[in-house]
Amino acid sequence: MKAYDYAALNRDFAAKSAQDIVRWAVSEFGQGLAMSTSFGAESAVLLHLATQVKPDLPVLFTDTGFHFQQTLEHKDRLVERLKLNLKVLRPEMPHEEFLAKHGKLYEKDPDACCAANKIAPFEKALSNYQAWISGIRRAQAITRQDSLFVENYRDKLVKVNPLLNWTSKMFWDYAKEHDLPYHPLWEKGYLSIGCSPETCTRPVQAGEDARSGRWAGTGKVECGIHTYLKNEEAAKHAHK
Ligand code: SF4
Repeated sequence: MKAYDYAALNRDFAAKSAQDIVRWAVSEFGQGLAMSTSFGAESAVLLHLATQVKPDLPVLFTDTGFHFQQTLEHKDRLVERLKLNLKVLRPEMPHEEFLAKHGKLYEKDPDACCAANKIAPFEKALSNYQAWISGIRRAQAITRQDSLFVENYRDKLVKVNPLLNWTSKMFWDYAKEHDLPYHPLWEKGYLSIGCSPETCTRPVQAGEDARSGRWAGTGKVECGIHTYLKNEEAAKHAHK
């Protein structure tokens, strides 16, 4: 993996637009670049912005088997509207088999469930690329406040976060300007949308940050893709 001066890049990118950061990633990595999406509440903006720069950018979506039906419909709308080069990733163990074997693992051990159904297929797909664009924003949660515009992702590839400093207002102004569809659950207070079990995603209360409805009450805020799993052993259990 090529060595980058991340400190210098991040100083430079702090004064650049999200489009400029995507352009840098496209020129630096070309066909070695992909982006990820969950087709959640905020996904349409980065999908639009990035594919305006590179229309055939591979879009990685992990179908955990637990998504809301509304998310799958939102996916279909955006794929059609933006002509996305979608790559659907699936867990090694088919969903029905996983349920039969592990039951409601998402309640008993959500780290293990995320490790098997989200992280493993995603990291396997990432091995085909040199760099990855994600849509995380610092304002979404305290776990994201130390993120950088460009980061070394586990010494495996470069992670690029062009929307890092975007506020909710910037996000919604962009969506309105480009007439982008929004996730139907957003209107019902779901500001961050993951899997459908109510222990994994619930609506957010007034004054809470956007990700406080994820795994509420468990202390877990991230699936582990953007941070590190607290329970590194969890993945192993879920594959047994
Ligand atoms: S968000 Fe919930 S259902 Fe989805 S993979 Fe993680 S624990 Fe499992």
